[in-house]
Amino acid sequence: MSADNPGKLIVITGPSGVGKGTIVRLLLQRHPQLQLSISATTRQPRPGEIEAVDYYFMSKENFETAIAKRDFLEWAEYAGNYYGTPRTKVVEQIEKGNYIILEIELVGARAIANIFPDARRIFILPPSIEELEQRIRSRGKNSEESTAQRLEIAREEIAASDEFDLKIVNDDLETAIAQLEAAIFNS
Ligand code: 5GP
Repeated sequence: MSADNPGKLIVITGPSGVGKGTIVRLLLQRHPQLQLSISATTRQPRPGEIEAVDYYFMSKENFETAIAKRDFLEWAEYAGNYYGTPRTKVVEQIEKGNYIILEIELVGARAIANIFPDARRIFILPPSIEELEQRIRSRGKNSEESTAQRLEIAREEIAASDEFDLKIVNDDLETAIAQLEAAIFNS
């Protein structure tokens, strides 16, 4: 990213259960010029998740090989699984001058800040910690995912939210999206 290249990297971070996925999905529907980076993960697909749409689902072994080959722009371990941003597509999109969104956790967001200091980093907060806990618990009941681990990580992530350029509270969905649109297009 430079003065003669208007491509923008937008990092969206926030605790599990905060509703990042819904916000990002609506944002992409409304602004087809925005690209979403599809991450790789070693976690099991949730019901309804589609390969190469939601994630590239990989074995731990293949993921570790990709780390060694430096295929990821950043990667992190989260609740016992690996997650990573494939490098090539993001770099290509930025070079073309396009907008690209990364929806990633805190460790990855910090790594991106080092690699691309111009990236706009946005943190999505829940209206209250109680509501977030309830949402993480109800998701955990339906899956193998570790509720306790996700809750603990959520608290740590929220404590670090001041590191971000902007914090948006996902209380009213439309208000949150409008704030995100302003952050992406008006700055
Ligand atoms: P989930 O299992 O709920 O889909 O994702 C767990 C966490 O991993 C979320 O906070 C999500 O934003 C994050 N995540 C997804 N993809 C990536 C990635 O490529 N890199 C990093 N660092 N985090 C990711």
